Amino acid sequence: MSPTRTQVAIVGAGPAGLLLAHLLHLQGVDSVVLEQRSREHVEARIRAGMLEAPTVALLREVGLAGRLDREGLPHNGFHLRFDGHTHHLEFAAPAGGSAVNYGQHELVRDLVAARLATGRPVHFEAEVVAVEDLDTPAPTVRWRSGGREHTLVADVVAGCDGFHGITRAAIPAGAVTATERSYPFAWLGILADTVPAQPMAMYCAHPDGFALHSLRGMTRTRMYLQVPATDRLADWPDDGSGRSCAGAARAWTARRWSRARCWSACSRGCARWSSRRCSTGASSSPATPRTSCPRPARRA
Ligand SMILES: Cc1cc2nc3c(=O)[nH]c(=O)nc-3n(C[C@H](O)[C@H](O)[C@H](O)COP(=O)(O)OP(=O)(O)OC[C@H]3O[C@@H](n4cnc5c(N)ncnc54)[C@H](O)[C@@H]3O)c2cc1C
Repeated sequence: MSPTRTQVAIVGAGPAGLLLAHLLHLQGVDSVVLEQRSREHVEARIRAGMLEAPTVALLREVGLAGRLDREGLPHNGFHLRFDGHTHHLEFAAPAGGSAVNYGQHELVRDLVAARLATGRPVHFEAEVVAVEDLDTPAPTVRWRSGGREHTLVADVVAGCDGFHGITRAAIPAGAVTATERSYPFAWLGILADTVPAQPMAMYCAHPDGFALHSLRGMTRTRMYLQVPATDRLADWPDDGSGRSCAGAARAWTARRWSRARCWSACSRGCARWSSRRCSTGASSSPATPRTSCPRPARRA
């Protein structure tokens, strides 16, 4: 099959890839979005839940904030709890606006709809298997769909496929300088289908470690607990004991927990992060603990 051509080949239909596609569309730049998962999968994938003020402003500016403004929960502050006291901090004024609690999957849903409305291509269940010739004027993306291989030639490849994606590995050696710090602990993350104990985030410092209460709407609570870096999810069984997912969730007054994961904790940055023909897409701001790491303590 002969290769197709576009100006920008976007690998990944997460928030970065889809928003980039929309921004390019508004500038009259042609792009093709390739996503290895199904549309249903990316639209239901529960991840982050808070959009910072500059992101909300951008979404409004480009006409993508209709449902966000109707359904999102504005956030103007949070609680810090330490030494047995609760301290409330307002951040809306210094941050230039409210953050909005709006599930990442809801945003992805809006972005997919916006992309489809433009009529420009977005391919789901299209796995990119190779990114080649990045240092030439015609970088090439090879992708597979329905058992067939396709070739896309672009002016630029945008790697919006996350930290573990294929494009990061394809960037020529020496083009990226990455810095990373790993912390000697991990997060136990619990998603509970329950009304949040407070309608705002609570960051808690305790001699036993850090805990975070956050929310994904008014019926779903997200909790993080600092645990030893050596812990496995199996160390937190659902047996109702104190040291169990249920016990940890109960500490936040959550009646039912639905999903739990453990992540190793690290922060990282890239001093230089693009080559001439390939750039890696942005990730989120760490409003909540950073949760992706090349050496996961455990994943469930
Ligand atoms: C469980 C979980 C919870 C999180 N919670 C929070 C939180 O509370 N707060 C916060 O700030 N951040 C959180 N994050 C981080 C946040 O979700 C990410 O920063 C965000 O998803 C980054 O968006 P992105 O578009 O760059 O990448 P992604 O959303 O990862 O999108 C990348 C896309 O590329 C696709 N892809 C990968 N490889 C290929 C390939 N070879 N071919 C085609 N497509 C490919 C993937 O399927 C995916 O759809 C969480 C992450 C996880 C995993």
